[in-house]
Amino acid sequence: MKISIVVSIYNEQDSLTAFWEELKSIICNSSDIEYQIIWINDGSKDNSQKIINDIVLNDKKENYYFTTIEFSRNFGHEAAMIAGIDHSEGDAAICMDADLQHPPSQIPLMLKEFVHESEIVLMERIKRHDNGIFKNLMSKIFYVIFNKLTDGAFKKNSSDFFLISKRVIKLLQNNYREKNRFIRGYIQIIGFNKTTLSFEAPSRFAGETNYNFKSLFKLAINAFFVFSNKLLSISFYISLLFSLLSSIVIIYSIYQYFFGSKVPSGYTTLIIFNSMCFTILFFLIAILSFYFGKTADEIKNRPIYLIKNLSTTKLQKE
Ligand code: UDP
Ligand code: MG
Repeated sequence: MKISIVVSIYNEQDSLTAFWEELKSIICNSSDIEYQIIWINDGSKDNSQKIINDIVLNDKKENYYFTTIEFSRNFGHEAAMIAGIDHSEGDAAICMDADLQHPPSQIPLMLKEFVHESEIVLMERIKRHDNGIFKNLMSKIFYVIFNKLTDGAFKKNSSDFFLISKRVIKLLQNNYREKNRFIRGYIQIIGFNKTTLSFEAPSRFAGETNYNFKSLFKLAINAFFVFSNKLLSISFYISLLFSLLSSIVIIYSIYQYFFGSKVPSGYTTLIIFNSMCFTILFFLIAILSFYFGKTADEIKNRPIYLIKNLSTTKLQKE
């Protein structure tokens, strides 16, 4: 049996060595399995690539070999995962983070499910040690809305830690090639035998999350104004502004109605109605714009990722 392990890396210089030591200690225990370790360096700006190169060059490879993929720039976690899946040669692939928040100790349990005919093993995060109350709340709200929109098809604490069989790998390689991606969603809706295991995510081994609110916001604003068609969704922000303005007008009008000087009859109703209509109108245009933007991304058909360097070592066992 051959298993591919897909590791997405963006600025993980302080975690990589510890991650590899821990992963190695797990995979060396199962010497009857051959492992393909796929490092995807998603345009790291730190020394991650050097650390990967050192591991690949100096490690005494036994029941594993390495595939190293270096992107031309940062394409994001989803792109890194699909690149790994595209290059996996195993009977199954396991996607995991490089910061030890996806404990390698879970791998044998995942493989046990795979051997027992599960084509997809989802890892449900029952606890996350580094998330504040706010981030947990946002995550909950996200899943509530997401589930409402998708008729409850998704598990609420699903993570980017999962195992997929060769058949599912082929599906992701040949279909589901959208530019706006959500892999952990795809693998929940394509059917096949599925199992869910739960795990507790420890805090990051080192470094900081790449998904804090400030960086997400900055990234979003940058994307809007540089060349993203999301500029179209400016109507969404106008709708937010209008909802604020109309609330002020509504409150003012209600106050005038009860306590102010005499106003012509019907004025308050008109104002409230008008303000609300505009808010809703802009909101609907915003939704259309979001959809239009996503469609435009697909039509442009740009690559999901670009590879600068790709290399594979040999298995040294034989
Ligand atoms: N990552 C990546 N590209 C990015 C951002 C993150 O490949 O643009 C990797 C990162 O190195 C880590 C995983 O994706 O292995 C998850 O990222 P992070 O730990 O920052 O997210 P969190 O666990 O806080 O959700
Ligand atoms: Mg993390």
